[in-house]
Amino acid sequence: MAYQALYRKYRPTNFDEVVGQTHIIQTLKNAIVQNRIAHAYLFCGPRGTGKTSIAKIFAKTLNCTNSQDAPCGVCENCKMAANGSHPDIIEIDAASNNGVDEVRNLIDKVKYAPMQGKYKIYIIDEVHMMTSGAFNALLKTIEEPPAHVIFIFATTEPNKVLPTIISRCQRFDFNKVSMHDIKYRLSVVCKNEGIEIDENGLTLIAQLADGGMRDALSILDQCVAYCSSHIDVNDIRKIYGVITSEDIGKLFYSVYKKDVDSFVKDIQKYSDMGMDIKRLTADFIHMLKDSLILDYSENSTLVSDMKKDMIRKYFKLAPINFRIKCMEELM
Ligand SMILES: [Zn+2]
Repeated sequence: MAYQALYRKYRPTNFDEVVGQTHIIQTLKNAIVQNRIAHAYLFCGPRGTGKTSIAKIFAKTLNCTNSQDAPCGVCENCKMAANGSHPDIIEIDAASNNGVDEVRNLIDKVKYAPMQGKYKIYIIDEVHMMTSGAFNALLKTIEEPPAHVIFIFATTEPNKVLPTIISRCQRFDFNKVSMHDIKYRLSVVCKNEGIEIDENGLTLIAQLADGGMRDALSILDQCVAYCSSHIDVNDIRKIYGVITSEDIGKLFYSVYKKDVDSFVKDIQKYSDMGMDIKRLTADFIHMLKDSLILDYSENSTLVSDMKKDMIRKYFKLAPINFRIKCMEELM
C-alpha cells in the first residue's frame, strides 16, 4: 500500500476522534439532537485546528440515516461521505475557486433537492479568498436559502469575510489545540505506528506545532523520514533548527560574565549550522521568562523539568534585575 501521510491517516472521522474544540462539538451535537440546524455556519480559527474535519463530520452526521448525535459509519450515506463521493456533500476550496462563475454555478444547483441525503451541504474552505463579486452572489442565496441547504464556511481570517455574510452565520471560534492534547494525540499515533519517542521529543514537536494538530502530525512525519522509528529530541532540533535549553543557558552565562569572545563564537556556530536566529531570540526570551516564574514559584508546572534544570544551572546565577534587563533588550 502506498505511504499515507500521518495527518491524512489520522484525520478524525468521528466527533470522538477530534482533539480539542469540545465546546464546539457539544454545541453542534445539541443542535442535531434538538433539530435546531442553522442554514449557515462560520468556522473561524488558526490552521490545523479541525475546522474542515469537524465540518465534514457534521455534514456526515446530518445525512446519516441512523444517527442521533454522531455518524453511524455504516449506513449508505456515511459510507459515501467517508470516501468523498456523497453527491449532497459538496466541498469547495475558495482559494482555487474564487470567481463569480464558480459561485454562480454552485448557486444554480442549490435549488435542486438533495439526491441521497436529507440535506445538501456546501463546505467552503478558505472562504475569505473569494472575490467580492463572488461573495455578493453568494449573499443572496444565504439570505433566503432553500430549507434543505446548509452552508459551512471555514476561514483562518474572519476579518476578511464580508460582515453581511458573518451576520447571517452561526459563528464558531476554534481555539489552538493545547500542548497537553497535542502530546497525548501524538503519543497515541506513535504507539500505533511503532515509533519510539520520549516525553521531551513530544513536548518539542507540540511546541513547534504551536496549537495546530495537523502541523504536529506533519512534523512527526518529517522526523520519521529523517530518523526512522526512533526519534530523538536532538534530531528534531537539527531538522527544525532549534537549539537546546542548555545552549541557551550557556549563551546567557556568557552574557552575564561579559565573555564576549565565547558569546560571539557560539552565535556564529549556530548561525553556520543554519539555526533560525529569530527563533533563538524567542526561545531565549522564553527561558528568561521561565526563570522569573521559578523565582516566585519553585514548583511551578508551567516550566518543564528539563528547562528547570538548565535554569538552575545557568540563569539563577544572575540576579533577577539582570535577567529582566536582558529580557527587555531582547524584546
Ligand atoms: Zn450513518
